[in-house]
Amino acid sequence: MTNAKSEELFAEALRYIPGGVNSPVRAFRAVGGHPFFVNKAKGAHIFDVDGNELVDYVGTWGPAILGHAHPSIIQAIQRAAEQGTSFGIPNPMEVEMARLVCQAVPALGKVRMCNSGTEACMSAIRLARGFAGRDKIIKFDGCYHGHADSLLVKAGSGALTFGHPDSAGVPAAFTQHTIVVPFNEPDAVSTAFAANSQQIAGIIVEPVPGNAGLYLPKPGFLKFLRDITAANGALLIFDEVMTGFRLALGGAQERFGIQPDLSCFGKIIGGGLPVGAFGGRAEIMDLLAPLGPVYQAGTLSGNPLAMAAGIAALKELASTNAYASLEQSGAALESGMKAAAKSANIPVQFNRIGSMFCGYFTDEPVHNLADAMKSDRARFAKYFRGMLSEGIYLAPSQFEAGFLSTAHTPADIDKTVSAAARVMKSL
Ligand SMILES: *Cc1c(COP(=O)(O)O)cnc(C)c1O
Repeated sequence: MTNAKSEELFAEALRYIPGGVNSPVRAFRAVGGHPFFVNKAKGAHIFDVDGNELVDYVGTWGPAILGHAHPSIIQAIQRAAEQGTSFGIPNPMEVEMARLVCQAVPALGKVRMCNSGTEACMSAIRLARGFAGRDKIIKFDGCYHGHADSLLVKAGSGALTFGHPDSAGVPAAFTQHTIVVPFNEPDAVSTAFAANSQQIAGIIVEPVPGNAGLYLPKPGFLKFLRDITAANGALLIFDEVMTGFRLALGGAQERFGIQPDLSCFGKIIGGGLPVGAFGGRAEIMDLLAPLGPVYQAGTLSGNPLAMAAGIAALKELASTNAYASLEQSGAALESGMKAAAKSANIPVQFNRIGSMFCGYFTDEPVHNLADAMKSDRARFAKYFRGMLSEGIYLAPSQFEAGFLSTAHTPADIDKTVSAAARVMKSL
């Protein structure tokens, strides 16, 4: 892969941007080398400034479920832009978006739009605390809920990749109300409730954690979380920033048949523009200002370009057989990758649900962060570089999920699987 122009840009980026990147996992630290610069993406493919074309499994970290530059999204953004880029006063698309989201997601009575997944989770936590009149929250290690202070504890990919799971600059006092327990371990959750009786406002969880690679909830685990929160007067918050509109139109909550009290969204809901949203039971949501005492706001929240892009994406997902076709592509990728690993005699745990996947280089099943940490990361780095040189772009860290889009063709998947077969033999 030629990369002269990317190298030149990165050298300049290092002069003006900390680490040369605007979000740390893009820096390729976990896999060695420097990032490449992309100036065009179409369908399942990205094109870098040196003219390389790659099959993309990062999908801008989740949003690109319909592939890059989907025509109906581009057209919606163009049309909206002609009317103005921001009004700061209600616009009709905000209402349409709210209605679409509430109709699609089972547990939503009302929803408020914001500008990122971080904002959505931060605000949902504030709302849960305001509703319950309690301060403590439970989160799971390896789950990432954005970079807000109180949630930046044992928070998955970025932090894991860089080896400091807790950020500097976060006062201990800001995280003292955050209780961290292992995922898929009901006893740890029960113990936390018993030790903090009447103090826990809620549990926030990625129903399918995708920020330490990807692992699935064991059967009954989400139902257990639903029951124990209800029994203790605490709220259950599903962080569906990644799984929302990806695992089903109604997200993981539809797929697993669990109704959380609050849900957080981002990524797909913005159609590739910066959007977040949080919603839930109307009686809880109505505690937000201006109706209630829980303050939350945003100058660009409900931005018309972002609403137009998001609405176009959601309509496309609702009106096509997107999820069935994603399941088919996912199954094909899974069987191909498992066969490739087997024939190369490399131990790989290939976890997948729908269009999300992760291969860990370990011979033990991966159900939580501790299991994920057993993966051979040096081997992953070698695998990543091998795949990149074959024209396949995976996330540059072991602790990220991969994403398929409806634009990935059987030919893309075949190319990926044969590349993997070659690369694994060289590991
Ligand atoms: C990406 C992500 C976030 C943060 O969203 P940003 O838009 O990056 O702020 C929060 N929660 C989950 C589960 C995510 O995957």
